[in-house]
Amino acid sequence: MALLMRTDSDRAPWWRDEVAKLLPDLDFRIYPETGRIEDIEYALVWRPPQGLLRSLPSLKAIFSLGAGVDHVFADPNLPEGVPVVRLIDVQLTRQMTEYAVWHVLRFHRNGPEYEAQQRQRVWREVALTQTVERRVGVMGLGEIGGAVARALVGFGFDVAGWSRGPKSIPGVASFAGREKLHDFLARSEIVVCVLPLTPDTTDILDARAFAAMPRGACVINIGRGPHLVESDLVAALDAGHVAGAALDVFRTEPLPQDSPLWSHPAVTLTPHIAGMIDPRSAVQQVVANIRRIRAGEKPLNIVDPRAGY
Ligand code: NDP
Repeated sequence: MALLMRTDSDRAPWWRDEVAKLLPDLDFRIYPETGRIEDIEYALVWRPPQGLLRSLPSLKAIFSLGAGVDHVFADPNLPEGVPVVRLIDVQLTRQMTEYAVWHVLRFHRNGPEYEAQQRQRVWREVALTQTVERRVGVMGLGEIGGAVARALVGFGFDVAGWSRGPKSIPGVASFAGREKLHDFLARSEIVVCVLPLTPDTTDILDARAFAAMPRGACVINIGRGPHLVESDLVAALDAGHVAGAALDVFRTEPLPQDSPLWSHPAVTLTPHIAGMIDPRSAVQQVVANIRRIRAGEKPLNIVDPRAGY
């Protein structure tokens, strides 16, 4: 039996070594070296080429190399009846939380203003807002968004969250469903997007969303690039309605050299690094699920294909 890994990163050999420590009998193959495809029972993938998964006749599970599964469901011809399993990893959640907190604090403490002042050798205080007076909104209150919201509550922020169904997280006001999106955005001075990418959430950060936010709002996108209509963001920044943005994900990655986001003074960007999967911790979940399947049990963290996340 074999596992086929397909990834854009150069971490495949590292994964192979980590899997071998726990499952030495598993034949670990790295795409495009598939070998005999009939042997392949497990696929561990990031952005698999369309049709690849369906071409594997013995496949028992598709493991996403990420918390999101949009890159798997982008293939319209997935094999029927094979579970898609997403990654829930404590280290990944922690990194995403760090990234969100980093930028929330930066905007909250007037970081961009002080950075600009330093460049001009200006020594001037900017009025300070207390965390209890700062309204932060988290879009997506799942594994990661829930952790982000709880961390922000720990700093004393006035936190709200938006999700499909209502949520009960101490200190977090719950807004649920499309009909509550406007009210949620209208009360949020700093918005963190950590939604999964589905047809319902594509383009959710558009001109209407920015108009709903209070003037001077800041936006942090660590979900997926297609959540954000980049041209609408640039327009809202240029109009001064949105004051700043911190972006980790983009519609096209790597971000094209001619994107206006690179040089926009109100944008801080990073190359999709908010959460980076560490094979040393993430391997545990993959191996545990392979063991479950071998024992005739269902793997944990199967994605509902109808919800798409
Ligand atoms: P979860 O599936 O645990 O949580 C998703 C949350 O989004 C849930 O609260 C869900 O609501 C909510 N949601 C989904 N669809 C809608 C909708 N239509 N309207 C309102 N709320 C909605 O996901 P994770 O927290 O594990 O991950 C979130 C995303 O973060 C991933 O899908 C991935 O895209 C991104 N990510 C980015 C990384 C990076 O490096 N930038 C790294 C890791 C993840 P409900 O609770 O009601 O179901």
